[in-house]
Amino acid sequence: MNKIVGNEMIKQFVLAGKSTFTIRNIKTGNRFTYYVQANHDRVVWFVKGLVGPNYKYFGTIFYNGFRQTKKSRITSNTTIVKAFSWFWKQLHLGSPLPAKLEVYHEGMCGRCGRRLTVPESIDAGYGPICIKLINDGQV
Ligand SMILES: [Zn+2]
Repeated sequence: MNKIVGNEMIKQFVLAGKSTFTIRNIKTGNRFTYYVQANHDRVVWFVKGLVGPNYKYFGTIFYNGFRQTKKSRITSNTTIVKAFSWFWKQLHLGSPLPAKLEVYHEGMCGRCGRRLTVPESIDAGYGPICIKLINDGQV
């Protein structure tokens, strides 16, 4: 199962380094897929959204705040950007996500981006080496 449950687990996955995930509103069926990549020092995270077949950059997470930058290739009035902005704010504030919102990883390790093939790894969202590093606090 690719579903990620719980604010802390979701936030950890988003910030894991090379995470691809989909958020879905089970009432409306609306869904958006994002790719969040940490810079080398894990100080800034670059956020991209899947538009058609391509991921397009639209902002950063920096000091736990999401913001758009001049280089954003998706405008702020689009649902894909508004949804992420709201989603991140909920996670950052520790506010519970509504039950109608589900978060799925895309079968790739959230930390290194490699494809997951072992069922236990798919459940966890991380490969065996990466989950050990994360559990050891070496994120
Ligand atoms: Zn990994």
